[in-house]
Amino acid sequence: MSDYYGILGLSKGASQEEIKKAYRKSAIKYHPDKNPGDPKAEIKFKEISEAYEVLSDDKKRQIYDQYGAEALKGAGGMGGMGGGPAGGFSSMEEALRTFMGAFGGGGGGGRGGESIFDTFFGYESEEASSARQGASKKMNLTISFEEAVKGVEKDVAITNYVNCTSCAGSGAASPSAVKKCTRCKGSGQIHQSQGFFSMSSTCPQCQGSGKVITDPCKECRGAGQVKEKQRVNVKVPAGVDTGMRLRVGGYGDAGVHGGPAGDLYVYLNVTPHSVFSRQGDDAILEMPLSFTEAALGCKKEIPTPRGGSCRITIPEGTQTEKVLRVKAEGIPNVHGQGTGDLLVKVLVETPVGLSEKQKELLKTFAELETEQNSPRKRGFLDKLKGFFTS
Ligand SMILES: [Zn+2]
Ligand SMILES: [Zn+2]
Repeated sequence: MSDYYGILGLSKGASQEEIKKAYRKSAIKYHPDKNPGDPKAEIKFKEISEAYEVLSDDKKRQIYDQYGAEALKGAGGMGGMGGGPAGGFSSMEEALRTFMGAFGGGGGGGRGGESIFDTFFGYESEEASSARQGASKKMNLTISFEEAVKGVEKDVAITNYVNCTSCAGSGAASPSAVKKCTRCKGSGQIHQSQGFFSMSSTCPQCQGSGKVITDPCKECRGAGQVKEKQRVNVKVPAGVDTGMRLRVGGYGDAGVHGGPAGDLYVYLNVTPHSVFSRQGDDAILEMPLSFTEAALGCKKEIPTPRGGSCRITIPEGTQTEKVLRVKAEGIPNVHGQGTGDLLVKVLVETPVGLSEKQKELLKTFAELETEQNSPRKRGFLDKLKGFFTS
């Protein structure tokens, strides 16, 4: 029966902070690196780690407090309680993974999760290679409706980290100022055994590069990179719309230790047009017509989104809100899948500010009007009649 609180010298109600503190203190004291060839220290170190692994996890701690260590080990003592949903090691593999994770060394789970050894022994839970992709950048770009329809090229200014030209990104003043790292002997990795496990991690002295710089470059102070303003030509394809994102490959920060550069992401905003609106790849034009134009029919010259014009025929008797479709005069599809249509929405305007002569003529017209001239009105009156007689 293990006494996890006793192992760490804690009382039962210890806070997470106290548990962490006690663990750090004991872990340093009994760490195998500090006690080479001492089997007692090795056993103690394993006990400490096991205790911490349980007490630092609220779920496991709860099970431990209630049922003891056996429940967590799934050793059958509690009639299978240990296999419950709240945790416990369901397999050796999982136990190993959790255990390794607690060390922040190689293996799964070390990354991202809190690792005491990161801050404590200066280990890094990084991948073996020190090459890293540069950071990607974001920027907003506002273009006009016409530019969105036709496509446009824009020069934009960005500030990125680029490889220092005077040291070619090495960070060293001269090639002879680059020496092989003494700690890892140039491999970039250090190997150590902890209990039963042998782990490798990134060398803290050279951050995995295998090299150390004895005389840093004056230009970048050893960083290998400097900030630089650049101009980038962004090619905006025809058919883009607000909210779309363009990726300009390689225009983020330069990579580190030979890693690839990051990318530039351009978020587009298209300013609204004064007469055209948009619905997918279709453009919409709202066109007012006088009631005589709508009644008699007419031909109209209208603008198109791509800056041209076209002639459309308004048929005799066109009603308000009627939509006339002009094929393929809309907006080109951004993925090259053809072109949308231009939808002309007719708005018939009732005449206002009539002169006496106009009024006279309209009255004469009204006298000649028949039911056939207003089918919608007639239909409506028919419905009302039915309503009143029922
Ligand atoms: Zn430099
Ligand atoms: Zn090294």
